[in-house]
Amino acid sequence: MGKALIIGCGAVASVAIHKCCQNSGVFDEICIASRTKSKCDALKAKLEGKTKTKIKTAKVDADNVEELISLINDFKPDLVMNLALPYQDLTIMDACLATKTNYMDTANYEPLDTAKFEYKWQWAYRKRFEEAGITALLGSGFDPGVTGVFSAYAQKHHFDEIEFIDILDCNAGDHGYPFATNFNPEINIREVSAKGSYWQDGKWVETEPMEIKRVYNFPEIGEKDMYLLHHEELESLALNIKSIKRIRFFMTFGQSYLTHLKCLENVGMTSIEPIDFEGKKIVPLQFLKAVLPDPASLGPRTKGKTNIGCIFIGKKDGKQKTYYVYNVCTHEECFAEVGSQAVAYTTGVPAMIGAMMLITKTWNKPGVHNIEEFDPDPFMDALNKWGLPWQESFNPALVD
Ligand code: NDP
Repeated sequence: MGKALIIGCGAVASVAIHKCCQNSGVFDEICIASRTKSKCDALKAKLEGKTKTKIKTAKVDADNVEELISLINDFKPDLVMNLALPYQDLTIMDACLATKTNYMDTANYEPLDTAKFEYKWQWAYRKRFEEAGITALLGSGFDPGVTGVFSAYAQKHHFDEIEFIDILDCNAGDHGYPFATNFNPEINIREVSAKGSYWQDGKWVETEPMEIKRVYNFPEIGEKDMYLLHHEELESLALNIKSIKRIRFFMTFGQSYLTHLKCLENVGMTSIEPIDFEGKKIVPLQFLKAVLPDPASLGPRTKGKTNIGCIFIGKKDGKQKTYYVYNVCTHEECFAEVGSQAVAYTTGVPAMIGAMMLITKTWNKPGVHNIEEFDPDPFMDALNKWGLPWQESFNPALVD
């Protein structure tokens, strides 16, 4: 049916590529293009012969718009799947505009020198994408991604007005290391060491990092400590769910992770300010990334489950209603299927599904859109079919 150019060949991309190859009825041909071409070639060698999808590989520096344009002109994809890092979002969007190609990603733009992610840079492309007749789907991972689809689904089927949303992201997996991050360490540490915030009554309320802690009894997992973080989907959901009064995001962290993080912060290792080291400028956080375990290597070691979902409180037919929708994933099962742990799996599967929605034109709305702006039903069906089945509860425990 269509061709996808996939940029990046890390943990998330690897899962998405496996899933595109399982879905060869939609993905006739893919090109895996990344900075380190040997990784793309190794993945192609692993998958070829097991799929009908034709696989090409290429080397590309996604910070370079001209290189991207020439790759797109050469491969002529229906869609570019940006599974590199948030720093590349704008260059890839520029190349998509220049070649009139659809775009999708899993994380919003973040400038390299400021640990601050916001949609404003990508939303600024809205008019140009609309005029070019192409669609940009922003944030098609799990959170952001499935959490936005869950919100649109709750709005469509269960509520007249959604007033409160709590997004709960629990990873109860154990990889056996005292400290490691489940996805790109630099992006992960920038996210969790930043100030927290939530949206309430039309404005942001800022908190100190990890200031707000709650304990939640997660289905199929049990009680875990979770902490309030700022997270990118809060920004778009606060706009797109019209009746919202408060929206918060919580993520679980174990004590060992937090103690190590505090220590690394205290000694300056999480800083993104370059320092002089033996005549060379280095960024401490980038050096830390180089010495930490590669997230892709955690797959065979990680055991346990993840549970990510949303609790909604609002009104239906004049009555108060609560609704919890979530997915539970098992690290070992993800590894057995695609050779990756559940954090990459829960992001890579929705990336493939988002790409499928655009390639099949199930979703076709020129402009730049967050995922909750589309019809959630076909995506919800695809989650059940492609490995992320969801469950619901109409009487969940609430977070105070
Ligand atoms: P990895 O670090 O494992 O992979 C990133 C890939 O991008 C690598 O293959 C890397 O190449 C490539 N890359 C980096 N810079 C460039 C460049 N300039 N040109 C070409 N390729 C480049 O990251 P993850 O797979 O863990 O994360 C991928 C994305 O997914 C991130 O944006 C992350 O924020 C997002 N994410 C989203 C989640 C969600 O739920 N929405 C959850 C988790 C992650 P090389 O191999 O050479 O380093």
